[in-house]
Amino acid sequence: MHNDFGARLQKYAKLVIKVGVSIQPGQELVLRVPIDAAALARKLAIEAYKAGAKYVNVFYNDDELTLIRYQYAPRDSFDYFPDWYAHAMIDFAENGDAILSVYASDPDLLKDQDPELISASRKAAAQKLRPFSELLGKDYAPWTVIAASTPGWANKVFAHLPEAERVPALWDAIFKICRVDASDPVEAWRKHTEELVKRSAYMTEKQYVALKYTAPGTDLTLGLPENHVWMGGYGKTPQGNPFTANIPTEEIFTLPHKDRVNGTVRATLPLSLHGNLVEDFWFRFEEGKVVEVHAARGEEVLKKLLETDEGAVHLGEVALVPQSSPIARTGILFYNTLYDENASCHLALGRAYRTSLKGGEEMSEEEFGAAGGNDSLIHVDFMIGSDEMDIDGILSDGSAEPVFRQGEWAFEV
Ligand code: ZN
Ligand code: ZN
Repeated sequence: MHNDFGARLQKYAKLVIKVGVSIQPGQELVLRVPIDAAALARKLAIEAYKAGAKYVNVFYNDDELTLIRYQYAPRDSFDYFPDWYAHAMIDFAENGDAILSVYASDPDLLKDQDPELISASRKAAAQKLRPFSELLGKDYAPWTVIAASTPGWANKVFAHLPEAERVPALWDAIFKICRVDASDPVEAWRKHTEELVKRSAYMTEKQYVALKYTAPGTDLTLGLPENHVWMGGYGKTPQGNPFTANIPTEEIFTLPHKDRVNGTVRATLPLSLHGNLVEDFWFRFEEGKVVEVHAARGEEVLKKLLETDEGAVHLGEVALVPQSSPIARTGILFYNTLYDENASCHLALGRAYRTSLKGGEEMSEEEFGAAGGNDSLIHVDFMIGSDEMDIDGILSDGSAEPVFRQGEWAFEV
């Protein structure tokens, strides 16, 4: 292992606490973390208390225990989700506590399990946690998703390395991508997120009525609703505290109009979906709806996902990421949505973020839907970017301007 591993881990933890959830004195931290990342959890707790956190609530999870449930629990018990956990999360969010989730599951964990059970369990969790997801979707509480190197995940990404080298190799990649080795990582992140904020402002100002995507296997016109807001870099709580929802983050994003997406789009990276890999897949859209789907692997899990509810066949997010992003440049396929989505232009099936529409936080469900915002229990990102992708912004008079050329930004800010 890198001989200053402990120091780098501490710098990573500090970055996450300062720039990610941005802990304020007196605030509580909620930490949802894999047991295999306990070393990181302890560093995060140290940094949180040093920043003035009142209390650090830790909820450990464990891939092995998840698998044990699938192997031994009664088949009819998978639509159960504990109320106490949902209530706790909703309470934390309502209090404005900082919510930090560490995501590092084995991408193949559930590959041999029944898709019906996976779907039932996902749906039960999403239903019970819905008020919680809605509060975070409105940036009501500061929230951040990060990753940690764990054996289950590292074995997948670095299968070609000797076993003892895999976890350190994944940590090394995480530290590089998260700019942990910069002389002042916190400052490096402030600069980086500032640029994302500028690109977002440029795109919001343009108010393109649609984006047109062209790439091998992709010919897609994606309508954007009136008053859409591009966002990137950082969000702000109602109290005005900036926080970064994803570390790393390389994207700027908004919502598509849920009924104005037409054409075909091909995924350029596999999707790790609930412990199953979906590979080599494409969708055809008509009037915003998926009308055709094909996957070389994992098609059944993907189709189950689309059956979740009415909104699952519509899009809720469109995000732009240049191919030159530090993650894309590693050339590593991470099989982890947080990392892969920040390496590639992507779209998401399901729920749109209220903050993507001007005044969206205050709208009723009906108003948000009428304005083009999608609602669903799911929000699943899939990657479509490549260095062969061109994107045009279509103005209200029908003229087109270049937004992306060959996978890179086509405008300066
Ligand atoms: Zn995104
Ligand atoms: Zn997303």
